[in-house]
Amino acid sequence: MVSRTTDDYMALAMAGCKAVNEPAFWAGYDRASAQGFYDYFRQITEYEPKRAAKFCIEHYCWLCINPKESEDPGLAREVMALIPEFLKSPNVLGIGEIGLNKNSRNELMILEEHIQIAEDHDQLILVHTPHLEDKLKGTKLIIDALLNHSKIDPSRIIIDHVEEHTAPLVLDKGFWAGMTLYPESKVTPNRAIDMLEMYGTERVWMNSACDWGVSDPLSVPKAALEMRRRGYDDAFIDRIIYSNPAQFMGQSERFGLK
Ligand SMILES: [Zn+2]
Repeated sequence: MVSRTTDDYMALAMAGCKAVNEPAFWAGYDRASAQGFYDYFRQITEYEPKRAAKFCIEHYCWLCINPKESEDPGLAREVMALIPEFLKSPNVLGIGEIGLNKNSRNELMILEEHIQIAEDHDQLILVHTPHLEDKLKGTKLIIDALLNHSKIDPSRIIIDHVEEHTAPLVLDKGFWAGMTLYPESKVTPNRAIDMLEMYGTERVWMNSACDWGVSDPLSVPKAALEMRRRGYDDAFIDRIIYSNPAQFMGQSERFGLK
């Protein structure tokens, strides 16, 4: 994400959006030092919540060094050392989006260390799964890494960017599954609704991709419209786009909708 435009915030507010989640993410370039992450963590814990509040939107965030930048274990450990200080911020929901990008050995090692931070500080976890051909293998590696931690409770972890071939793996183990919506590529609103029809509505949520490619912050409201076109009632739509995410995030004492 890294700062949406004010037009995006206005559109979200007009569509009835109450809260946004910003996972710690890639800045569009690899940051040169841990100091760059320190500044970024300040941005998403101090400044961005104030911008969102001007549009009556609650802003929550997640902290980590994302898998795309975790190839250098020295840098990754310097960044991870910053996390405990920022976990005190009132809008932080947990550790994320951690996970794998290219399923490399270093990425896996840093993933393990992030899981340990979440365990030590009793935090929720948001997990990124690789896109395209690495997704199935990466999802299996991530699930194994999470389940290796005996204290980890799958109901406090959301595994994001699921597709048809990974959603059952995630849900069968008791994790939450996130469906990230894109206008054209990857999972579209229609594909996500097909998945709801295949795998049910327990422990699933939808999120609008807001990354560096073509993405649309209104993907979730557009999916709601599509659900209505398919004949689903208000209770069903409310569950997917409001109650389910609120139930998951509500496991953090920091989350509360005004
Ligand atoms: Zn991601």
